[in-house]
Amino acid sequence: MKHCVINWLADDEVAISGIVDEYADFSEFARCAQNTLTVDFAEVTRMNSSGIRSWIQAIMKHKIKLVLRNCSSVVVEQFSMIPEFVGKNGFVESFYVHYHCVSCQYETKRLFVPGRDIQISESPQVEPHLPEPCPKCADVVELDHNPEIYFAFLRFMKPRQAS
Ligand SMILES: [Zn+2]
Repeated sequence: MKHCVINWLADDEVAISGIVDEYADFSEFARCAQNTLTVDFAEVTRMNSSGIRSWIQAIMKHKIKLVLRNCSSVVVEQFSMIPEFVGKNGFVESFYVHYHCVSCQYETKRLFVPGRDIQISESPQVEPHLPEPCPKCADVVELDHNPEIYFAFLRFMKPRQAS
């Protein structure tokens, strides 16, 4: 099990990976106080309530404006339930959507960009399956999430503002 790793890619860009739990330390975020921080969440595999609390506290304390990139499904599941995770001025730039074949073991994921691949609205239209058939067995490849829950963050997220 890999604990939370914070990897700075630039002064205003960071990649977080592993498990965000009670050992996660976001004190380094002080350097981005009052500013925009882009966070790549592609490699986050699990989050618990302690980790989420630390995250929200750090973002609020330092008044960071978030841009969330490549959000893994575990992260999307959290911020769709907890708007404070993204913050008042935060924005989800891109996030993963998972699919599985109804007949075989095939699984795949797609990167969605809000505003391009899905509407930012009260009731975003979500296709329940991929347009193309399963590459292994040609059956239907179905959405792996409850769309009412998974895409809930699009209801409260504001369109991206120029910074
Ligand atoms: Zn299949």
